[in-house]
Amino acid sequence: MVAGMEGAESRTYAAAQDDPVAAILRVLRDGERFLVCSHSRPDGDAIGSMLSLGTLIEQMGKRADLVTADRIPAVYRKLPGADAVQTLLRVDGRYDAAILLECDGVERTRLRGLEQLFLINIDHHVTGQAFAALNWIDHSAVSVGEMVYRLALAAGAKLTPEMATCLYTTLLTDTGGFLYGAVRASTFALARELVAAGANPVAIAHEVYFSVSPSKLLLLGMALRRLKRKGRLAWLWVTHQDMVRSCAAEEDCEGIVNIALGIAGVDVAVFLRELPEGLIRLSLRSRGEVNVAAVAARLGGGGHENAAGCTLDGPLPRALEEILSELRNAADNPTARSG
Ligand code: 5GP
Ligand code: MN
Repeated sequence: MVAGMEGAESRTYAAAQDDPVAAILRVLRDGERFLVCSHSRPDGDAIGSMLSLGTLIEQMGKRADLVTADRIPAVYRKLPGADAVQTLLRVDGRYDAAILLECDGVERTRLRGLEQLFLINIDHHVTGQAFAALNWIDHSAVSVGEMVYRLALAAGAKLTPEMATCLYTTLLTDTGGFLYGAVRASTFALARELVAAGANPVAIAHEVYFSVSPSKLLLLGMALRRLKRKGRLAWLWVTHQDMVRSCAAEEDCEGIVNIALGIAGVDVAVFLRELPEGLIRLSLRSRGEVNVAAVAARLGGGGHENAAGCTLDGPLPRALEEILSELRNAADNPTARSG
């Protein structure tokens, strides 16, 4: 058990922050049972990195319980091992460590019961926080899956076709199909390696992008009718009633904001969704200089420089006014980065 360590042992772990990969592997080798989780409303990176880390831990002869607060979106349910992910709101049990992927704090998991565990944080967001006992935050990683790949490499693990499939999914989805994010030569080198190890890029792309539900298209139509554009800024929204009328799930909102960003001359876009309890979820996207992570962080959210999110108080017109004013400021001062 690593929790509750003191004195020399805690100094060892503090020093280990210089080499977080080695430190994380040491915890995995020393322990027996681990909890692996990610943020609520999990996306492709959250699911793919959880599944591949779970496999790595099992390859090391240990046990990994995979948990999310929200159910896995349909497009990721066929990923190898996805059946084993438990949807819970409270975790129980004795774990040698809990590994949080893609989270800037325990709250982002929406899981209760984590506080007393030894926490390991693996994240790639610019708004990432060193909230855990052991933190590995790498802004240069395209996805957390890329970091799990590096962990697997350092552990000397065998890259199975199943792991390669999950890891490729993290690359594909966190770059919107290799379209944005920190995509560079090494991203394609990793993609190549994953395909060589058994990931099928066409099958994965079809599963993720060509399996749209009719509800999603209905919702998209409703959002597009409300599309507004002023200069470099575009916005669109859906009400809770739209969600009900189109029988849409929250995962059906994924990608709607990118359509607004795709307008020629627009370089900042926002999609707003009214939640049943009246709060408003925001998805922010930019291309070029405007740092939407800084905007989201100011409003209590976070993310990447070009893709971020947050939740605001309603009603919708008020949230819209607030975000448009913030985005206009950010667009007028594009060099004001939060880092
Ligand atoms: P999306 O718009 O797709 O929901 O989120 C875009 C990016 O921002 C993702 O990397 C996501 O993890 C991050 N993000 C979205 N909402 C929040 C939030 O409320 N808090 C933090 N810390 N990150 C968020
Ligand atoms: Mn990610």
